[in-house]
Amino acid sequence: MTGTARRRAILSAAAIFFCGARMFAQTPFQFPTANHSLYQVGDELKFFASTAPDKPWTSGSFGCVRNDGWRMHEGLDIRHLQTDRRGEPTDPVMASADGTVVYFSKKAGLSNYGNYIVVRHVVEGLEIYSLYAHLSEVRPGLAIGQSVKAGEVIGTMGRTSTAEVITKDRAHVHFELNVLLNDSFAAWFKKNSAGERNDHGEWNGQNLLGLDPRAILVGEHNPVKKFSLLDFVRSQTELCRVLVRATNFPYLKRYAALVLKNPVAEKEGVAGYELVLNYNGVPFALLPRAASEIKGGAKFQLLAVNDAVEKANPCRKLVVKRGSRWQLTDAGTRELELLTY
Ligand SMILES: [Zn+2]
Repeated sequence: MTGTARRRAILSAAAIFFCGARMFAQTPFQFPTANHSLYQVGDELKFFASTAPDKPWTSGSFGCVRNDGWRMHEGLDIRHLQTDRRGEPTDPVMASADGTVVYFSKKAGLSNYGNYIVVRHVVEGLEIYSLYAHLSEVRPGLAIGQSVKAGEVIGTMGRTSTAEVITKDRAHVHFELNVLLNDSFAAWFKKNSAGERNDHGEWNGQNLLGLDPRAILVGEHNPVKKFSLLDFVRSQTELCRVLVRATNFPYLKRYAALVLKNPVAEKEGVAGYELVLNYNGVPFALLPRAASEIKGGAKFQLLAVNDAVEKANPCRKLVVKRGSRWQLTDAGTRELELLTY
């Protein structure tokens, strides 16, 4: 091979590699606005709207990042790029992936989310619900049940919220990627939260449990390793595992891809499920158990807790240590009640 031929060969190999890399990048989820600064190390404050000028960018990211680590923030606060003459944000907000609009609320005064939109996606067999909050406007004409394409404008960034005053300088879209706990949320909530309002049916934030969108967007950006959402969900870090004496609840069907195999239960019949939860309570593995494998009759049985994970991410308070024993908290029990309702 001559020098030129070799150089050409190397260049075309590189071209194939980078084309491949580009194919992997930004799938299945895309940024919901034109702000793509996430990948520029050192520029995090261009991407994330922190909670105050003296707070780090991580306060606008996902996790136990609020109130000194004791309050969960279940999405990303993605900073605005453009404003009108009055300083109001005008960034178009776009669907993060192909999907179906399942809900929007145009009554800003009825939610911490202000005006918000929920879009359903099916990725590798998993139902994921993206959520876009604090909008000034839901795109006129947008209808529930309507299909949308990735990148299609569905609303306009704003500052609506009932919980907080979002100042102009930190205007952002609050963006979540969630699993859905239970289709019967509204009925469950009515029974278990007497006197409290639920204006949003099953599209109440309590029924949606967030995955870390930053980890997903960064994973998709890796030019070497193809991103798989299913692998991402399956490889969440375990906070705890709980045995539930329930064998028929909607999460099992909706997330059948997360159900593991157990030959004993297959042979003898399923009497319950061992659920593996991450620190945000997302059940990411469900192991069927036979009656012969279950000790005790408790409805929910806490089998194991990963101390280090709880210590690093305590904000959901799903489990608590009393003396030397771990227990489910009321919040942990409440989530399991909803999940298996
Ligand atoms: Zn937020």
